[in-house]
Amino acid sequence: MKSNAQVVVIGGGVVGCSVIYHLTKLGWKDVVLIERSELTSGSTWHAAGGFHTLNADTNMAALQGYTIGLYRELEELTGQSCSLHHVGGITLAGTPERMDFLKAARAMHRHMGLDTELVTPQEIRQLSPITNTEGVLGALYDPLDGHLDPSGTTHAYAKGAQMQGAEIVLRNRVLETSQQADGSWQVVTEQGTIVAEHLVNAAGLWAREVGEMAGVYLPLHPMEHQYFATDDIPEVYQHDRELPHVMDPEGESYLRQEGKGLVIGFYEQDCVPWAVDGTRWDFGHELLSENLDRIGDSMEVAFNRYPVLAQAGIKTIINGPFTFAPDGNPLVGPVPGLRNYWSACAVMAGFSQGGGVGLTLAEWMIDGEPSRDVFAMDVARFGDYCTKSYTRLKVRENYQKRFAVSYPNEELPAARPLDSTPAYGIWQQQNAVFGSSYGMEHVNYFAPVGEHPYEIPSFRRSNAFDTVAKECHAVRNAVGINEVHNFGKYEISGPGAHDYLDTIMAGKIPPTGRLSLNPMLSPKGRIIGDFTVAQVNADVFQVTASFGAQAYHMRWFEQHLPAQGVHIENVSKSRIGFQIAGPNSRELLQRVTRADVSNQAFPFLSVGEMDVGQCQTIVQRVSYTGDRGFEIYVPAHNQIALYQVLSEAGRDLGLRPFGMRAMMSLRLDKSFGSWMREFKPDYTPMETGLDRFIDYKKTSDFIGKQAVLAEREIGVERKLCTFVVEARDADVDAYEPIWHDGEVVGFVTSGGYSHFARKSIAYGFLPVNLANEGRSVDIEILGEMIPAKLYKEPLFDPENEYLRS
Ligand SMILES: Cc1cc2nc3c(=O)[nH]c(=O)nc-3n(C[C@H](O)[C@H](O)[C@H](O)COP(=O)(O)OP(=O)(O)OC[C@H]3O[C@@H](n4cnc5c(N)ncnc54)[C@H](O)[C@@H]3O)c2cc1C
Repeated sequence: MKSNAQVVVIGGGVVGCSVIYHLTKLGWKDVVLIERSELTSGSTWHAAGGFHTLNADTNMAALQGYTIGLYRELEELTGQSCSLHHVGGITLAGTPERMDFLKAARAMHRHMGLDTELVTPQEIRQLSPITNTEGVLGALYDPLDGHLDPSGTTHAYAKGAQMQGAEIVLRNRVLETSQQADGSWQVVTEQGTIVAEHLVNAAGLWAREVGEMAGVYLPLHPMEHQYFATDDIPEVYQHDRELPHVMDPEGESYLRQEGKGLVIGFYEQDCVPWAVDGTRWDFGHELLSENLDRIGDSMEVAFNRYPVLAQAGIKTIINGPFTFAPDGNPLVGPVPGLRNYWSACAVMAGFSQGGGVGLTLAEWMIDGEPSRDVFAMDVARFGDYCTKSYTRLKVRENYQKRFAVSYPNEELPAARPLDSTPAYGIWQQQNAVFGSSYGMEHVNYFAPVGEHPYEIPSFRRSNAFDTVAKECHAVRNAVGINEVHNFGKYEISGPGAHDYLDTIMAGKIPPTGRLSLNPMLSPKGRIIGDFTVAQVNADVFQVTASFGAQAYHMRWFEQHLPAQGVHIENVSKSRIGFQIAGPNSRELLQRVTRADVSNQAFPFLSVGEMDVGQCQTIVQRVSYTGDRGFEIYVPAHNQIALYQVLSEAGRDLGLRPFGMRAMMSLRLDKSFGSWMREFKPDYTPMETGLDRFIDYKKTSDFIGKQAVLAEREIGVERKLCTFVVEARDADVDAYEPIWHDGEVVGFVTSGGYSHFARKSIAYGFLPVNLANEGRSVDIEILGEMIPAKLYKEPLFDPENEYLRS
């Protein structure tokens, strides 16, 4: 083994091999992969080898499509067979909810250009004659599904990488990793030490242990998983073609043909986290003891669904472990807090996702950013709230829900509550229905007195509808109150703070006492944050954005931090408080502060420190509801005092608490976008209208400046638009296709129901030539074409006259 390399990758499973294949393909040749044993010595060797494109996130689905397309290329390049079987696959629907789910997936695939189709029970029987369609309403057919040989595929990646210059060192365990003063990584192995500029953790089942060597905790956990292969079955092999895969979510099983028999695997409810205290180093090519009792119920369902199984003998039973992150997607990218340390871990579907993970990581390392938004698998989508036990509980829940219908309004219950604010108890007494984001509890809405505080998951309007309407009307007609803990908040201070912000933000940096809305851009001019920047005092800024992007934003802030002169503190949990919004909000605030908060003294976009009641606060005159409003920030230990002051003073002003559901409805009246819906790295400022906040003339060389200047020169091909939709009982969620003249011309980013305007609203992209006032389109919602019309003016206070009054 050589003593220096540009990149060391730890782990020779399918993921590590894909990483070195892509790094060398994209041009980095000085790459060494170190494997403890032989290639495929973790989860990889006993995988069932199935692959598919389906994923709730469109970019993940696209990367899965990329992975599947790559195998032929690999075979041609290396001559190593992956034993590909492109047999197609069907996902059955046994309930109307599942049918809605598949219709929504089909609609999303249309916008992605994927050729999935809804099929009838009769068509299912033609495709897969061994399937009993009793109780089945229909299915989604995906021609891209198939399976391969896990070992052959891993060796194909490895061979391709070696042909492109990579070195692979086998039977050599990495023992220690430590960062040197110059930023390089010292990697101590059984065969000696190697120093690398970049280190990649692709250690699969041992990713936790390898992470610990660098002092990081990666939120992932292994789960046991069982499948079995049958003896030969004549009904299976006496067929003129190989049978397609069948996914039976109601039976929690997946099935495919293997030679002359079948393979069937289960995601059972009675599932078992594996190696809770860590993975043994001597765990190798061995299987876990089988436990058919755990999958007994699912097997019974399977015998009914595929009667031939009941007579078949079982040839082999495989019980093996593989790793999951809390939401089931991989953990990829630069690990926050470390320099040049990269994660390629928690890849639970290595043969659907491995290629996409390798490509993404290689682009990120070489180009500085991936070519598309990959937040859904970014290691920084999780933060330090992920304790080991939280991770384990969430991973277990995710495994159990692998085949469950996911609803747009669903809140998953495991490991909650974790983080909450002091106001949590007050909201509980008011019958709050809670949601959770980034480990923190927030109020979704307040259920009527006497009603069980639970929102029924649904693709259609839920039981929260009427109550949320009342909360919205309270804001628009009187004054509403809700927490501001759902913002990520950062205090950025010091003599260099202004210039630093001027470089990382694309907009104007406000003078003391003022705030500005500010896009943060990547070098390629993509949106990586939509911030509010407030200069509270000279050289002291409060910067706020999405609560769920804390680790993501802190990683960016730290990557661009100058050696001195700037101090950054993440105050998201320590600085909380309330926003009050609505026509009576100013009077309410004036009643409890001696500061002058009149429009003359404290106009729109002001910020100031002031006493509110007995609390020292920071107040910002801005509100995401689009109404007249104030955000009031205090240290967490003052939150209850602040609440009491505001609630007493607001009693005769119609003060009413409101939750996130109302907030997300109110924003629709103003055509306000939101992070990870309208604003994300797939989109640019000019496409989304955020360019109005860019200060193109500022002298600083802000990040992304060249790209946005070029964009302004060339123009864009699509524009984000607001539509009023003639929806009856189901509003848009995201990624529904937008049709015009019989063709899909765009897609929805988000939307919902505006209780103020009593209209269903959608945001979505249209080609520039179609993005005209009054344009009629159809939006496909749950399989139905719903007419919609484009509106350029916001429905509420279009000229912002009231907002500024
Ligand atoms: C029963 C079962 C069925 C499955 N079926 C499918 C399927 O049908 N389709 C699908 O896509 N996926 C399936 N999977 C999941 C799939 O196996 C994983 O997604 C994939 O193998 C993950 O690969 P990896 O490279 O990340 O990790 P691993 O395969 O675990 O590889 C990690 C490698 O790192 C090495 N390593 C660890 N620590 C060190 C160290 N300190 N020094 C040197 N080397 C080290 C290990 O020896 C190992 O070879 C299945 C898994 C199981 C258990």
